[in-house]
Amino acid sequence: MCLGCGRRAPKHDLMRFTAIPRGGALVVVADHAGARGGRGLYTCHSRACVQRAIERRAFARGARAQVEVDDGLLDDVDEGSGLRG
Ligand SMILES: [Zn+2]
Repeated sequence: MCLGCGRRAPKHDLMRFTAIPRGGALVVVADHAGARGGRGLYTCHSRACVQRAIERRAFARGARAQVEVDDGLLDDVDEGSGLRG
């Protein structure tokens, strides 16, 4: 389910993020390869959805922890790639 808009979709149709420890905090990073492990956090391939997830602190809820979000996270969104199938 997308943390931004709540849309339900198969995981392969969503963008995966995960929270990794860095400098004593948990930081949300894009996990394009799905290889980082940890609890997956999913949104649509849409900057609007990622932005909304950040604003709603949905990543923290999804990770069940306090998390930080890098300013550059939105730049990692491969917008629209999920639509090409
Ligand atoms: Zn969405």
